[in-house]
Order: sequence, then structure tokens, then C-alpha cells
Amino acid sequence: MRANDQNLKKSQARYQQCTFCIMDTSDPLITFNEDGRCNHCLAVDRWKAQGWNPSGDSNKLDRLLETVKSDGKGRDYDVVLGLSGGVDSSYIAYLCKQWDLRTLIVHVDTGWNSELAVKNIENLISYGGFDLDTLVVDWDEMRDLQLAFFRAGVPNQDIPQDHAISAGFLRHASRHNVKWTFIGTNYACEGILPTSWGYDNTDVTHILDIHRRFGTLRLKKFPLLSNTERFFRYRMIWRLKKASPLNLLAYNKLEAIRELEKQAGWRYYGGKHYESRFTKFFQGWYLPNRWGYDKRLAHLASLVASGQLSRQEALHEFATGVTLEYTAEDRTYMANKLAISEPEFDNLMQTQCHEHFEYRTTSQRKKKAIAILNAIANKMGL
Ligand SMILES: [Zn+2]
Repeated sequence: MRANDQNLKKSQARYQQCTFCIMDTSDPLITFNEDGRCNHCLAVDRWKAQGWNPSGDSNKLDRLLETVKSDGKGRDYDVVLGLSGGVDSSYIAYLCKQWDLRTLIVHVDTGWNSELAVKNIENLISYGGFDLDTLVVDWDEMRDLQLAFFRAGVPNQDIPQDHAISAGFLRHASRHNVKWTFIGTNYACEGILPTSWGYDNTDVTHILDIHRRFGTLRLKKFPLLSNTERFFRYRMIWRLKKASPLNLLAYNKLEAIRELEKQAGWRYYGGKHYESRFTKFFQGWYLPNRWGYDKRLAHLASLVASGQLSRQEALHEFATGVTLEYTAEDRTYMANKLAISEPEFDNLMQTQCHEHFEYRTTSQRKKKAIAILNAIANKMGL
């Protein structure tokens, strides 16, 4: 398969790399200050003043845990945690056990779990003695939507999986009498991710437009959830509260992996989000080869910006780490899984590239209105 030469050429024009982290002009919207520092790592610095507590030296975490336990009295569980099996959510599951929280684990199975992910989830459930509620996404609809996205030729091919996971998680969490949800999102490992490399996975208008143009089935069971419904139904009516506890402690990815391996029989996948075989293909081959976007760069830059890796270590790991090789075995697996022939799959991988904005998206006015409502709710502590 050929790379999209035009996009690669565009991304390599006037190459510049940040002097502090390792982000570079493969993000077409990157900007640099007079010292050569990029907008991404400068933003990470600002977040430290806006609620992120990377040193773990405040009592914010203690206060959160006290509130969660207090709110949990008389309810089914203290907290519901969305577990993908990846490092971040697995480490929160491990911590929930240490924090003695009555925890329900919700796992959304999109059909792409690696064998190792299944094993890791089993081991964590057994380690913590947790209850598990699994949502298995209808495979025919999942597959149809993913094929539609490939045909659309857009960069963010992980929108169907990511949307199913976040929407499915909220639906299943709200089935139980709980107030708090924990998510694995964190600044320490995910502080940097260029918006130009993808598009918002919560935009139902966009998902439905791509599916209407390129899908073949009706989406009857696929968990779709608009931002309006997320706000009014789950935030205002159900009063589900969300927290990212990894932002309130000194989270170090390598130490978390060591602890998980030692205590909970968990094993690393070799790459961020590689618990999903689809995401491994998407991040490891599709995005860098079709668009010139290598998410390893952003993941490593995040670790530099949060002080977990030196710039030199990150550059070394980027040059020598996980290869982006696309093997014949991968190709066979993807084609078989999507129930198409290998030549059909090859054709899909050569579909013309299109930007997300070439398809329908939610209007900026509506997005702004929801953002304002969420900001007001944050201020009111809702
Ligand atoms: Zn930077």
C-alpha cells in the first residue's frame, strides 16, 4: 500500500521541532515562541495552574475520595469506572482497590480487544474483587460504521470505537444507583494531542452523515449519544459526576506499569491504546502512512512535558521504539475481521483522503452553547 505522498510532503514542509518537548510541524497548526517552544507544551504548563496537580502534594485527591465515599452511602456503588484494559484506566482500577472504594467496572467491548486486553481485564477484576458490567457493541453495526469511516477517508478512524465507548459507558453507568464516575483521561500521559490530527468523537451529526453516505445497515443498537443529551440527560437529570483522579496525583506511567505487573498480573501492550487491535492498526499504520500523523510523537511529547521522560529519552524512544511496520498478518487479520477480501481492504486503504470538515458536523454555534452550559455547570459544582 502506498502512503499519501501529498499529505506527507505537506507535513514535512519547513520542518521544525520544539526545543522543549518533541512535537514538530507534522501538526500543521503548531506554533512556536521566540525560544522555539511549541504551543502544546506551553499549554501543559498552564494546566498545572488550572486543577492539574502533577506533584500530588495538595489534598485535592483526599477531598475527592472523601466526597465520593460520602456520596456513595446508600447507593449501589461509590464509583463506576470505565475500564478499557489500557494502562491509565487499569491503574485507576488498581488504585480504587487501594482506596477501598466500592467500585463497579464498566467495560465496552467494541469487538477489537486483543487477547492480552481480555486477560488483563480478567486479572484486574479478580485482583480487585470488582463487579463487572460489560456492554458488547452490536458487531454488524460496529463493522458497518467502521467501513463507512474508511470509505470516507477521514483521519480519525477511531471515532466509531471512541464514541461507542464513551456513550456506552454513560448508558451503563446510569443503570446503577451511583453518583460518581472515574475516567482514565489525564494530562500526564495525554496532555498533548494536536486537534489537527483528528476530530471530536462525540459529534453525532458527523458520525451519522458519514454513515448515511457510506454505510449499508441501519444503526439501531449502536450507542449514539449527542453532546446535548450528555449534558441534559446525564449531567443535569441523572446528576452523574465525573472525575479524572490521575490528574490529582503524581502519575508516572512507567511506575504504574511496574505496579500493575507486580500486583495485579497485568502486562503491557507495547504501545499506548494497543489494547485494541483496531487502534493499534489505526495509530501504528493508518494515521502515519496515510496522513503523516504519528501519535507516538504526541504521547512521548506529553511524557516530556509532564517531566516523566527527558527530551533525549523521548527522541531515542521515538527513533528506536515500536515500529510502524504493517505485516501481511495484520492485513489478513483486518480484512478477515471486517469480513472483506484482502484486495478490497487494500482498496479501502487507498481511498482518497478527505478532511472531517468535508462532511457535516455540528454547528459551531451549537458546540459553543453546550460548552457554555458545561462551564456554568462546572462553576455551580454540578
Ligand atoms: Zn513543545
